[in-house]
Amino acid sequence: MSKKPAATSPATSPSPIHATVDFDLPGKQHGHLMVPYSYNLGGWANLLVPITVIKNGDGPTALASGGNHGDEYPGQIAIMKLCRNLEPSHVRGRLILIPSLNFPAAKASTRLSPLDGMNLNRAFPGKADGSVTSIIAHYLTTVLFPMADIVIDIHTGGRSMDFVPCATMHLVPDLKQRATMTAGVEAWNTDISFVYADVAGSGLLPVEAENQGKIVVTTEMGGGEPVPSGVHTITQVGLSNVLRHFGVLTGEPVTRQGLGLPPTRWVQALSRDDYRFAPESGVFEALVPLGADVATGQTVAQIHFLERPDREPVPIIAPTSGVLLATRGPALVAQGDCVACIAHDVDLASLK
Ligand code: CA
Repeated sequence: MSKKPAATSPATSPSPIHATVDFDLPGKQHGHLMVPYSYNLGGWANLLVPITVIKNGDGPTALASGGNHGDEYPGQIAIMKLCRNLEPSHVRGRLILIPSLNFPAAKASTRLSPLDGMNLNRAFPGKADGSVTSIIAHYLTTVLFPMADIVIDIHTGGRSMDFVPCATMHLVPDLKQRATMTAGVEAWNTDISFVYADVAGSGLLPVEAENQGKIVVTTEMGGGEPVPSGVHTITQVGLSNVLRHFGVLTGEPVTRQGLGLPPTRWVQALSRDDYRFAPESGVFEALVPLGADVATGQTVAQIHFLERPDREPVPIIAPTSGVLLATRGPALVAQGDCVACIAHDVDLASLK
């Protein structure tokens, strides 16, 4: 019987990406991750993903990224501002900033990469010899995450969903890691802090970073293509405060209490039933404002049928009481689209 060849570990395959920045150099550098790829008029082409590294003395390393999904812009703008505005004197340790992780998708305002059709947030751990998206995931897995103590990945609902702006995290099994992540999420100072489950596949960026023991803070900062000023402010101010909280940026972090605000409301949606999917294709109408409390059995939205005005719309019902944390973004829905997320209050002590 022949022995099955061992699968190549991502960690043992060198990345084909060349970084034009030196991660060990003190000071501030703007550069690129050069990802080799080919297209019909470019045999030896490279995709240039912008990256900024700021290093000053001893301290933790934080990696902050946006544009994991290309059509989610608040984080991309917040990180571009840090790239321009921060100087080495503002940093203790090292800050690695990548505004647009899935750069081709960000330029096209798409969730998936237009180069290979892949969802970067389902591509981890990635492959050194894969397509562009897979190569980027592999580089994060094998080069950037091992350097980092803290990993911040800023999401929104993109063009598909609209969220109450919130900082988010997974319930990682390691209680020390979980407590540090909880404190990091709270440092974003959002009204709601959200513990989420992965209901749509595997291969997520935060899971790979968490499995490497990193402190991972993520967000869902609203949704849609626009970047409204209120959402942007929450994103920008929160990001800097989280970096101060972890000591990567100088200055004292502020707390909600210090701002005269009530404690954040911790909610979770860990059951598949907390995520509602369209039973049929049609036109989506929300019946409850985003962020509102809903009761068990309440109709929170409905789907209409353009070709059948005589037909009653199909209701989307909250199976349990909770807060309507997210709803479908575009009016048109296809069968199977996620159209609502209902989250439930959770005792913070149970998270620690
Ligand atoms: Ca997203």
